[in-house]
Amino acid sequence: MSSPAPVILLVEDEPQMRRFLRVALEGSGYRYLEAATGQEGLALAVQHRPEAILLDLGLPDMDGLDLVTRLREWSRTPVIVISARGQETDKVAALDAGADDYLTKPFGTSELLARIRVALRHSGPETADDPVFTLGRWQVDLAKRLVLVEGKEVHLTPLEYSLFTTLIRHAGKVVTHRQLLKEVWGGAAGAQPLYLRVYMTQLRHKLEEEPSRPKYLQTEPGVGYRLWMEV
Ligand code: CA
Repeated sequence: MSSPAPVILLVEDEPQMRRFLRVALEGSGYRYLEAATGQEGLALAVQHRPEAILLDLGLPDMDGLDLVTRLREWSRTPVIVISARGQETDKVAALDAGADDYLTKPFGTSELLARIRVALRHSGPETADDPVFTLGRWQVDLAKRLVLVEGKEVHLTPLEYSLFTTLIRHAGKVVTHRQLLKEVWGGAAGAQPLYLRVYMTQLRHKLEEEPSRPKYLQTEPGVGYRLWMEV
């Protein structure tokens, strides 16, 4: 393949963080752009159309959340938020505004690169023209609504199935409580994160090898859930 390496744009005001990420990304063969302010970041996004954006939330000239909102008016480019601990509500707000994932500082290079690979994987199973989603011991035939674990059919209730396939559609990415409640329950009055916990526990019991230590159906504390997959 001779297609050029994907361009990653970093919007971050801390020089050390920019240095760390530049080394990590260029060392992995990505093309790299950086901006120290939100305005500069938006300008570079317009000019260069990067394949993914890494975004710090605490920027000197604007809130990262506002940058996501403005970017989403015209672009579907994946956005991975990088933020310090203790900004849980900010992270959730950024994800609900259209960011795709987040990393909490400090994070390691391998975690960063795995998240970028997930972000760059454009299509879900539906758009990949293959109705069968395979992960570990699981095979999910989305056309037949059939879930197999090690070749044996597992019966899921309609809500469990809907929750599971919503996570499959966003495989690898974090999905917030609000997004799940909207996609699975259609924003029905009274639906709340507690429901999610109950249904997620049921799903883990039916699908995970060790339900109390789930390998794939992961909790993102205070934020939501993620169907983890290596890519
Ligand atoms: Ca900052």
